Amino acid sequence: PGEVAYNVRIGAGVLASLGQSMRNVPSLAGAEQVLVITDTNVGPLYLSRAKASLAEAGYHVSDICVPAGEEAKSIAVIGEVWEAMAALALERDCVVVALGGGCVGDLAGFAAATYMRGVQVVQVPTTLLSMVDSSVGGKTGVNLTAGKNLVGAFKQPAFVCADTDVLATLPSREWACGCGEVAKSALIDGDEFFFWLSDQAQAMAARQADVVAEAIARCVVFKADVVAQDKTESRGVRECLNYGHTLAHAIEKLSGYGTYSHGHAVADGMRFAALLGESLVGTPAELAEAQAQLLDALNLPALDWKATPENVLETMKRDKKARHGQVRFMLLEDVGAWKLVDVDDATILRHLQTYFA
Ligand code: NAD
Ligand code: ZN
Repeated sequence: PGEVAYNVRIGAGVLASLGQSMRNVPSLAGAEQVLVITDTNVGPLYLSRAKASLAEAGYHVSDICVPAGEEAKSIAVIGEVWEAMAALALERDCVVVALGGGCVGDLAGFAAATYMRGVQVVQVPTTLLSMVDSSVGGKTGVNLTAGKNLVGAFKQPAFVCADTDVLATLPSREWACGCGEVAKSALIDGDEFFFWLSDQAQAMAARQADVVAEAIARCVVFKADVVAQDKTESRGVRECLNYGHTLAHAIEKLSGYGTYSHGHAVADGMRFAALLGESLVGTPAELAEAQAQLLDALNLPALDWKATPENVLETMKRDKKARHGQVRFMLLEDVGAWKLVDVDDATILRHLQTYFA
């Protein structure tokens, strides 16, 4: 019973009927102009497939190709996109299609949220991470020099089209990114998802098609449910999605972005949260063990990463998710039973020492 009803298609080959699927969505059915935004890696692989389907459904299609990766989420690129949209004479009832990973999705979603005060957006996620996480939830935005995602808007997609076939070309590092979020979702969601994923972890690591599609579907249902309860991140419910991320952001920052994939950093953040949870909220030792096994099976082994606890603490305090310098952790009392806990400095330092030992 959410204010957000998600219209999502997941499966092998669904990109080939993107245009027809959009015609079946009432808010997109009457549109004429479609702008596909993609990046320099995804464009050569899948743009022609997307455009052919859109043209076949009678849409008038143009496209913009932006740099791959975080570089796309910049003031410079969003400026170019806005100018290009105006130059193409796109009107208020046009549709923006984001064809790519989370970076293209965040950029294109923000372009759609802001151009003429808002036009429709369709997310066509092409990374595992964007299929299970960023394409659902409506958060869009770009980075500033001062930090990631500092400018943005909420913009719910009118339709999400996740074609599992495109994952065949995804580099293994990007696969790991998505697996981190899948594991995270399962642990927050509950026993059903967690036990299923633990059983299927080998198949997931091997990218077995039916298992991958089901994992995506489970993540989307889970996330849509969380988002429905907290559409604009004002009720605290959505903070559960931050499981493992408090430490992960510090790992990524201190090790230099790109040293470890986001998924590896999140996995380590989950290991640390279990350690912290054992002493603060009674996280069962068996849960910590089962989580470690799942992460290992998903090829997300414990990181060989070292830093001084004081540096890690300072970095976490400067994170934009910290409030008034207080570091907050999402901890698990059990699988599916989460609790947000403000943890004092001494306790964090003590556990970081154990974690690095
Ligand atoms: P990404 O978009 O940079 O994609 C990763 C790389 O894979 C890129 O080089 C891309 O060109 C390439 N790629 C994408 N699909 C491919 C395919 N099918 N085959 C081959 N190569 C492909 O990264 P990502 O991990 O998808 O997204 C990360 C971004 O998502 C970050 O900016 C993060 O802040 C954001 N994010 C947003 C939300 C949200 O709620 N909006 C949630 C989580 C993350
Ligand atoms: Zn994440």
